[in-house]
Amino acid sequence: MPLKPLIAGNWKMNGDTASLGEIEAISEVVSASPPRADILICPPATLIFQAAQTAAGRIAIGGQNCSAEPCGAFTGDVSAEMLRDAGATAVIVGHSERRRFHGETDSMVAAKTLAAWRAGLLAIVCVGETEGERLAGDHQTVCKTQLRGSVPDRAKAGNTAIAYEPVWAIGTGKTPALSDIASMHRHIRECLVERFGPEGNSIRILYGGSVKPENAREILFTPEVGGALVGGASLKAADFCAIFSAAPQGT
Ligand code: PEP
Repeated sequence: MPLKPLIAGNWKMNGDTASLGEIEAISEVVSASPPRADILICPPATLIFQAAQTAAGRIAIGGQNCSAEPCGAFTGDVSAEMLRDAGATAVIVGHSERRRFHGETDSMVAAKTLAAWRAGLLAIVCVGETEGERLAGDHQTVCKTQLRGSVPDRAKAGNTAIAYEPVWAIGTGKTPALSDIASMHRHIRECLVERFGPEGNSIRILYGGSVKPENAREILFTPEVGGALVGGASLKAADFCAIFSAAPQGT
């Protein structure tokens, strides 16, 4: 059975305790409306505990990254278990900013995904091509390779979601044509089914890259789009609420 769409906000390195008001505002809207989608906000690690207290189960709270290790001498890192302990139920892994600025490879992302599962977190595994790769016509091959390398065996709908995020669409205001989103999501679906059998049909594939209130509806109603990963437009409750209110009614 298909899961409800998942609308996830990635606050990146933005937000302080004053931003908890946005969590409260989003939570109020979610609890007052029929649950058409699963709603998740991934604030900076410093805010996870307070965000989870503020949300009080009305929306889910997640991390933006985790270590592959459970604990130990890894200065500055945060483990999946620590995220869970702080109140997170999900974590984004392999975001293109982590791949680009922190040199994260597919095998490192796979190790982080395993860590997320070990801690009982939903892993949102990001894949997506650069503009050059798209122009060269390599986008499908790039994403297939990233999926193969970043998603470990035993992925299922309950522990994993994929976020297709064309790198050139993140934070740029540019989005692919809806037909291109549809064909990439179809391709990712085929990769998931080839690898995981029927379970691959249930794993949600989120679209990410300049989703805003103005384009949310058409993107969220595109075939095989099982939700969205939203960056900039998740920072303000009004924008984020307008996005998840555009989601199709889930089951
Ligand atoms: C993101 O950071 O994952 C993202 C999709 O950002 P934006 O919505 O700002 O493009």
